[in-house]
Amino acid sequence: MIHRTGSAQETERLGAELAAELEPGDVVLLSGDLGAGKTTFVRGAVQALGAETAISSPTFTIGQRYTISAGPVAEVSHLDLYRLRSLAHEDPDLLADYVGPDTIAFVEWPEVAERELAALADRVRRVTFTHRGRDLREIEFE
Ligand code: ADP
Ligand code: MG
Repeated sequence: MIHRTGSAQETERLGAELAAELEPGDVVLLSGDLGAGKTTFVRGAVQALGAETAISSPTFTIGQRYTISAGPVAEVSHLDLYRLRSLAHEDPDLLADYVGPDTIAFVEWPEVAERELAALADRVRRVTFTHRGRDLREIEFE
């Protein structure tokens, strides 16, 4: 299903729509160029799931975890693997801190770890972002 959005707010709303379908153990892989709207989408989704703190992009770590006091899941995580070229030299448990049966995880730049993420997830959802000029974005739910 392909969606088109014309503003960051619309993309946040789309994130919230997907969030309503998610369950613990789900991992959402977000692909697309820099500035395509991945973090904006995750912000809408994480807020809709009940996180109280505003999301920011992980800068010094690969991910952030958000504890949810009331909602469909107790913990949500947001990973950005942009700077990770390979998992070869990483702690094998690196991803397990963020992905598992009690968590809903959103992963930007997942390509380097797709196999490992799929192994930790109960279900994988893919969302692909394409910049269509100015504020237009195409967002495909697989
Ligand atoms: P990414 O995480 O894919 O690199 P971000 O979500 O961080 O992208 O940035 C998207 C930028 O584009 C933000 O500055 C946002 O305000 C802007 N923007 C403009 N139109 C849209 C849209 N339709 N959807 C999402 N972001 C948009
Ligand atoms: Mg981003």
